[in-house]
Amino acid sequence: MVPRLTNSVRGPALALEQHEQQQQNVLRTLLIDRVCARRLGGETGLRVNRVGLRRRKPRASSEEEITEADLSVCQPELGRVEEMEESTGGSRNMVANGFKDEEEEDEELSSELIFLGSGSSTGVPSPLCLLRPADPPCHVCHSAMEGPPEINKNYRCNPSLLINYKHEDGSRRYIQIDAGKNFKEQVLRWFLIHKVPRLDALLLTHEHADAMLGLDDIRGVQNYNSMNDIAAMPVFVSQHTMDSVNAKFPYLVEKTLKEGQEVRRVAQLDWRVIDTSCSALFDAVGLEITPLPVMHGEDYLSLGFLFGKKHRVAYISDVSRIPETTEQVISAAGDLGPVDILILDSLYKSGPHNTHFCYEDSLAAVKRLRPRRAFFVGMTHEFEHERDNAELAEWSQREGIEVQLAYDGMRIPVCLG
Ligand SMILES: [Zn+2]
Ligand SMILES: [Zn+2]
Repeated sequence: MVPRLTNSVRGPALALEQHEQQQQNVLRTLLIDRVCARRLGGETGLRVNRVGLRRRKPRASSEEEITEADLSVCQPELGRVEEMEESTGGSRNMVANGFKDEEEEDEELSSELIFLGSGSSTGVPSPLCLLRPADPPCHVCHSAMEGPPEINKNYRCNPSLLINYKHEDGSRRYIQIDAGKNFKEQVLRWFLIHKVPRLDALLLTHEHADAMLGLDDIRGVQNYNSMNDIAAMPVFVSQHTMDSVNAKFPYLVEKTLKEGQEVRRVAQLDWRVIDTSCSALFDAVGLEITPLPVMHGEDYLSLGFLFGKKHRVAYISDVSRIPETTEQVISAAGDLGPVDILILDSLYKSGPHNTHFCYEDSLAAVKRLRPRRAFFVGMTHEFEHERDNAELAEWSQREGIEVQLAYDGMRIPVCLG
């Protein structure tokens, strides 16, 4: 959709011209989408929203049937809407699988996972690749600068997942895993697009900068009260992470003011220390979570998390080795059978690395654990989204397990209840 730079070295004038052309293409894309959304809504009785194309509930006779003629008129626009929806993590089922009634869709898509970040700690693009480009320049980092990040799958922030959980009582619970250095950028971008109104709970995998340096900005998604008299949001952490929070963010932990100390408006957080054992299940605002202890370097324990009943989802963003006891819980060969979705660390295309899985390690883990679907996160600029996803599609075909690279803003409908 957006033209990409090649690896060849280009003059500054040509680069500027190309950049302007790309900007125009992006603007044109956005404009076409607005127009076609209006046309689809106004002329055919269809409407486009963030989960795709739906048939309106019949309110007037003109809205009851979608005719072949309607579809032929809309076909070019439908293609464009689908492309845009895909680029922002939209529904895959909207055109390919036909139209779904709202009730049917609500039943199927009751909860969803939103990838707030799929990159490494430095993220992509890497500043160095832009400030002092190599010869030839880094194709991935340059392509990550083409057009808005919202439609650029090579633009990656720190790993983070938002669980939009529909509780059995019908209410929504917004549970986030990790709040790293890019927390505010991720909130501003994806909470708006995916209509996430607030956070109800936070789970921290570990205490590295890309997992928790956004804690200070949590106040930006909390209510404002001049006396800080607001409900504290639960944050679930290991004791090791709690010790680190105490050292790095003491003002986010202290609850009582000393004599003469002024009130300062900081995030109101309710710290809950959890055991780092697969058997130490805990409740995060109604969603049952299983901790998945993993090695992140042989000297460091990080946590993954397993959640969901109808669909079981395992999230492991920082790992160099999965201990046997953890594998038992998420392996197809274990007592509980395969997980439906495995989200797994994959730092470099080439490896190995002492504290992270790289591509071959991640693929080996997928083959061993045999989830129904897997998504890789934590990727550096060694991964080019389209190229490497195409390679993964071939691997998936060969091995019979669907594996994809995640991308920022990607949205996966799930049933967690
Ligand atoms: Zn680069
Ligand atoms: Zn880490």
